[in-house]
Amino acid sequence: MPEPTTPLSERPWEDVTQQLDVDAAMARILAAFVPLPIVDQPLLEACGQVLGRDVFARHNVPPFRNSAMDGYAVRAIDASQATWTDPTTLRVIGQIAAGQSALPVIGRGESTRIMTGAPMPEGADAVVRFEETDERPGESSGERGAVRIFRAPKPHDNVREAGEDIAAGSIVARRGKTLRPADLGLFASVGWTAAPVHRRPVVAILSTGNEVNEPGDELSAGAIRDSNSYVLAAYARLWGADVKSLGIARDTVADLTGRLSCAADADLIVTSGGVSLGDFDFVKDVLRGEGNVAIWQVRMKPGKPLAFGNIRGVPLLGLPGNPVAAAVSFILFGRPIVRRMLGYADTNPRTVKVKTLDSLDNRGQRRHYVRAVTEIDASGSIVARVAGEQGAGILSSLAAANALLVVPESLETVIAGTILDALLIDE
Ligand code: AMP
Ligand code: MG
Repeated sequence: MPEPTTPLSERPWEDVTQQLDVDAAMARILAAFVPLPIVDQPLLEACGQVLGRDVFARHNVPPFRNSAMDGYAVRAIDASQATWTDPTTLRVIGQIAAGQSALPVIGRGESTRIMTGAPMPEGADAVVRFEETDERPGESSGERGAVRIFRAPKPHDNVREAGEDIAAGSIVARRGKTLRPADLGLFASVGWTAAPVHRRPVVAILSTGNEVNEPGDELSAGAIRDSNSYVLAAYARLWGADVKSLGIARDTVADLTGRLSCAADADLIVTSGGVSLGDFDFVKDVLRGEGNVAIWQVRMKPGKPLAFGNIRGVPLLGLPGNPVAAAVSFILFGRPIVRRMLGYADTNPRTVKVKTLDSLDNRGQRRHYVRAVTEIDASGSIVARVAGEQGAGILSSLAAANALLVVPESLETVIAGTILDALLIDE
């Protein structure tokens, strides 16, 4: 590949002198994304997604006045003198099951057996539980024609009013809400089978490298297996995206170009590898030819080179190849992107304050993300221990970790006992 002769100012994609801190990179990246259009998503698939519009109740819940207990529907006034020693006897004129629509009318001195969820009959205003009558297991006192009531009911006892949970026309959930299981239940209970949520983004994932092979392939000399695709795809899914694989590109402009051209329908392309200064790091050349992509040096560790821009209009995030650098960069920059497209107002990674039990080194003025295991100690405070070797290629220590300790650029050494922010990586 011939050396480009145009000045660096006209080749922003190669301007690796652009040293950005993590926050500046994040701000530039996020500015390029907006929430995706709203689609009607079948209820179950909408769990965890963000509601794009207010949702209204189509009718009351419960839709009709009904019994909250198994017992007898009565007119409270008829049994107002009932006590355990001096019960009131009422005539039993029938039986109402849940789901029944033909109902008796309860007159003075009358009652009817009624089951939980069955509509309240006209005339009755309270339900006396079986336990407060002379009901005996296996015996229907309805057949005896009478029931003794041992406790005076008040009007409304054990009666659920129409609309007492949700009133017709009221807002069941407001736009911007993250849907949780109970929300889906509310929607279902008012007759919605789908929820208007921001569409899930499609994230297309491309691994690069002549040495990189599929996990199922024979391992030849000099070859390694592709782990990045799996880590990146799993994270993208965990955050709510749909994933499309673009496979593994050889380090040639032709293969990279060909595979990237299959991502026209994606909302984000994520590549790993090929963005450093190596002789075969061609991703940047392809990005130059096909789109408008900058490669930055982000002041973070692990990870430093980061590409961002768009290729034929599709945003592209180019991650370093080293497995942990790729994963950490994706957690930092990819998660906010996915969350923004999903419509979350808060795209920030969630951090908690933890006390580090180990001392840490951080030379080089970069923000250091240290793989760590956090737990709650005997006194109830959250403490963290380093999860193992911290090299950018040591994936096993990322697998062992549940958090990244954030060591600020300015801190060269961290002594044990220091309180740091920890980013919870699997949320
Ligand atoms: P690069 O950024 O392309 O120079 O790659 C940096 C390091 O990451 C090299 O040791 C690569 O072999 C390794 N690497 C690149 N892509 C992958 C991948 N998909 N899975 C595992 N390791 C990778
Ligand atoms: Mg490479």
